[in-house]
Amino acid sequence: MRLASRASILLPLGLLALGACVMEDQDTIDDSGPVVEGDQRPGWSESNNRLCATPDVDVAEMQAIDDEVGTYLAAHKNDTVANATGGIIPVYWHVIRNGTGVANGDITDQQIANQITVLNAAYASTGWEFQLRATDRTTNASWYTCSGGTCESQMKNALRQGTASALNIYSNNMGGGLLGWATFPSSYASSPKMDGVVLLYSSLPGGTAAPYNLGDTATHEVGHWMGLYHTFQGGCARQATGGDGVADTPAEKSPAYGCPVGRNTCANIAGNDPITNFMDYTDDSCMNTFSVGQDTRMDSMFTTYRFGK
Ligand SMILES: [Zn+2]
Repeated sequence: MRLASRASILLPLGLLALGACVMEDQDTIDDSGPVVEGDQRPGWSESNNRLCATPDVDVAEMQAIDDEVGTYLAAHKNDTVANATGGIIPVYWHVIRNGTGVANGDITDQQIANQITVLNAAYASTGWEFQLRATDRTTNASWYTCSGGTCESQMKNALRQGTASALNIYSNNMGGGLLGWATFPSSYASSPKMDGVVLLYSSLPGGTAAPYNLGDTATHEVGHWMGLYHTFQGGCARQATGGDGVADTPAEKSPAYGCPVGRNTCANIAGNDPITNFMDYTDDSCMNTFSVGQDTRMDSMFTTYRFGK
């Protein structure tokens, strides 16, 4: 078991996609805060498309992060902590509710346990394991509908626990068609209290956000928290890494919705779109994969930004 400390990533997830259409276009790239990557699917309704508010990182910032990680790993290559490749990550769950009862976001302990089980199944191949350490419940109307900004700062400053290696999850009813968002590991040092993942409460297993109610919004957002980008980041522009800094996730032009088997939106680049990858926008039932390259990236990010921090 190794623990690593990774940078935190914030990813908001989008809400549900009902249909199975192929979508094109992810538009917004902004690294200033939670941003919605929207889409222009015909007939798209914000209430039924996956939408993650974790901001994309631009090319210059991606390079700066990769350089920082490379420098850190080179300097610590002989340290045991320098090669964290898995381990137990403590989880602190903060239920933000508008009153009692599941309809007010007051999810049950069983739902939280089921979500942790889903996370551990998703990350089993990576060597990382999540263990729930504590759950707290706060009734606060402002935090309940928070989708970023002052309410987010207040909520996190009041509730965050643990070190850089601890995963803090806040569940609420953020609205705006969002499923969640996360902070990246590289932002921990400058904003430690903001580190963590915010989830739409109804995205938990058994929730009402079908087809995003099997718990993989958490998988996706935690992927950002572990240092991963969207598989569609950068579109078809950068062939070597597919735009997400990972060589074995084929590039795709835009987010995929539903479960469009055989989709291939970058004709000049080898490989069909990685529609089963947890870092795409497909339905929960469609996504089941982290690539080897993503696992390696998670390890290096955790080592550099979270382990022992
Ligand atoms: Zn995302």
